[in-house]
Amino acid sequence: MNIHEYQGKEILNSFGVRIQRGIVAHNAQEAVNAAKELTEQTGTGWHVIKAQVHAGGRGKGGGVKLAKNLKEVEEIARNIIGMDLVTPQTSAEGKKVHQVLVAEDVYYPGENEPEEYYMSVLLNRSTGRNMIMYSTEGGMDIETVAEETPHLIFTEEIDPSVGLLGFQARRIAFNLGLSGTAFKEMVKFVSSLYTAFDKSDSSLFEINPVLKTSDDKIMAVDAKVTLDDNALFRHKDYAEMRDIREENSTEVEAKKVGLNYVALDGNVGCMVNGAGLAMATMDLIKQAGGEPANFLDVGGTADAKRVEEAFRLILKDDKVEAILVNIFGGIVRCDRVAQGIVDAYKNMGDAINVPIIVRLQGTNADVAKKLIDESGLGVHSAVQFQEAADKVQEVLS
Ligand code: GDP
Ligand code: MN
Repeated sequence: MNIHEYQGKEILNSFGVRIQRGIVAHNAQEAVNAAKELTEQTGTGWHVIKAQVHAGGRGKGGGVKLAKNLKEVEEIARNIIGMDLVTPQTSAEGKKVHQVLVAEDVYYPGENEPEEYYMSVLLNRSTGRNMIMYSTEGGMDIETVAEETPHLIFTEEIDPSVGLLGFQARRIAFNLGLSGTAFKEMVKFVSSLYTAFDKSDSSLFEINPVLKTSDDKIMAVDAKVTLDDNALFRHKDYAEMRDIREENSTEVEAKKVGLNYVALDGNVGCMVNGAGLAMATMDLIKQAGGEPANFLDVGGTADAKRVEEAFRLILKDDKVEAILVNIFGGIVRCDRVAQGIVDAYKNMGDAINVPIIVRLQGTNADVAKKLIDESGLGVHSAVQFQEAADKVQEVLS
C-alpha cells in the first residue's frame, strides 16, 4: 500500500528520523494557518508547498513551490489544490491534488552549502535480504543516475539475524563524503531509518532527497513509503492511511468483492484461478500477440455470481478487446464454472461486447465444453492451452 509523503514522514518521525517538518492543508486558508503555526515552531518565514499525490517527480510537474511570505503561501496553495498534476510518473491526465503539505524551508543559507543525497531501503529479492541503497547524487531521478553513473550508487546489505550494524551506518556516512557533525548525524539518521523500515513492516522507503542542511543537520525532505499490505493487520493506524482516491478504482472494487485484480495496460482481459496459472496465461496471451489487460485470480469458488463480478470488472476497462477465461477444475468442477459463465453471460446481456475464449481443464472438462458449445452464446471453447492461444490470436486479428 502506498501512502502520501506527509504520512510517510509521520511514520519516520515516530521512529526518531529527522524530517522536514510540515502540516497538511486542504485549502488555501488552512495553508496560511499551517504556515503561521510552522513559523511559530521553527522560526522560519519561508515555506515549501508540496502537492500530496501518490506519484514522484512532483517538483518537475510544478507541484512543489517555495513561498517567501503568507501571501505567496495562499496563492500557491490555491493554485496547487484542485489542479491535475502531471509529472513524469503520472498519466497524461495527471492526478487531482486534494491536499498540500506546507513544510518549513530547509534549504536556508549558512556556513556550508546544502547537499542532497539519495537513500532507499528495500528488499534485495535475489539474496532475500534488506538493503540500503544510497548515492551522493540526490534530488535527481535515480534511474538516470543508475544508467549514466552507476558507480555513484552504493548498497549496504543487512543480515536479518543481527540487523544494521554500527560499522555499516558509518560506512554509508563515509561513502557519502561526510565528516564531523554531519557524519554523526548521518549515522543516527541511517540507524533510525532502518529501524523505522523494519518495525513498520514496510516494503519500500525512498528518501530523495536526504538533505544535509547548511548547519550540518541530516533530514528526510521527501518520503516515498510503501507498506506491506500483508502486515497491515499489525498496524491498524497505518491501515487508516489508505487513500483510495489515489488507487485504481477497479482494483478498489475488486478488493471489496474479494477478487485479486491488478490492472495492466493490454487488450486481453483474463479470468483465471490460481496465481501461477494466471501468470502462465499472461505469457500465453503475449505469445498469441496480445497484451494482458489485467491479472485476475478468481480463486477457488468460481460460481456464477463470482464469474459475473469478474466479467464486470474486466469490462470496465475499455481497452479490452477479448477475454480469456482459463480455469483449472481441481477443487471446483469445470461444469459448474461453465454454468457460471453461461449464466453470467445471459444475466449481463449486451454488457459483454467482446469475444470470450474459455478454456476449462480438469474435473468434468468434457461436460463443461459441451455446456458452452451448446449454449448458443458467442463463446469459443478450448481444452488445450495452445488451442486457447490460437483462438485468442484468431479473435484479435
Ligand atoms: P518530488 O519532486 O516529487 O520528488 O518531490 P520532493 O519532495 O523531492 O521535492 C522536489 C524538490 O523540491 C527537491 O528536490 C528540492 O530541490 C525542492 N525542495 C524541497 N523542499 C525544499 C525546501 O524546503 N526549500 C527549497 N528551496 N527547495 C525544496
Ligand atoms: Mn523526491
